[in-house]
Amino acid sequence: MKRFAMLIVATWASLLLVGSTSAAADMGMQSALAGTIVGDEQLSGEEIVLLAEDSVNQFAAENGLSQTQWHNLADQDVVYGPCGQATAYYAYYYCPRDSVAYIGYSQAEYFNDGTNRLAAAVLVAHEWGHHLQHVMNPAIRFSSKAYENGADCVGGAWLKWFVTREGINLGLGDVNGFWQLAIMIESHGEPGDTHGTRYERAFAMFSGYAWGLASCNGYTPTIP
Ligand SMILES: [Zn+2]
Repeated sequence: MKRFAMLIVATWASLLLVGSTSAAADMGMQSALAGTIVGDEQLSGEEIVLLAEDSVNQFAAENGLSQTQWHNLADQDVVYGPCGQATAYYAYYYCPRDSVAYIGYSQAEYFNDGTNRLAAAVLVAHEWGHHLQHVMNPAIRFSSKAYENGADCVGGAWLKWFVTREGINLGLGDVNGFWQLAIMIESHGEPGDTHGTRYERAFAMFSGYAWGLASCNGYTPTIP
């Protein structure tokens, strides 16, 4: 299993690096957005989330797909929605009962500080992935690993679109950052936890990155 994982990470690393180098050459220069999101300047949780949501909405529009509603939480915000409580520190989930993605700014900062500057953004795209799954199957209750791995796949597909569009150069540090993210958010087998292991989550993100949104249908119906 370990060797398999190393292979995934190595393949992912080469694809990310080769893909982003040619994209950057095509674009000629990095946009101001790329400069802030991958540069030295640290964005606040709010800035990262707003950038990510705006970009995910554009990704949806360009692909003719449904956009989700976002409900962002700052500081001491507490919301009691149909899927339970959401706070700035713990919210990062999609609720199929009201078709709203609840995103906490503090949670976003935690994801980014622990791994890389696009971690919180990829996970915003993950929540939109659940919205796509919900649109395809309105009766969905997200009760299996296929939904979580499938949403990670959507996160990877968004990442590829984003770095290409922005002319972002991902480095080895970013690749390692996504591996660290997979470790941070992996399931440890708690009862009822439908998230994947670090290997499954890294591979799902890699799949979306390498093969695009349509490949995410391999997990569960995601796009028509
Ligand atoms: Zn999820």
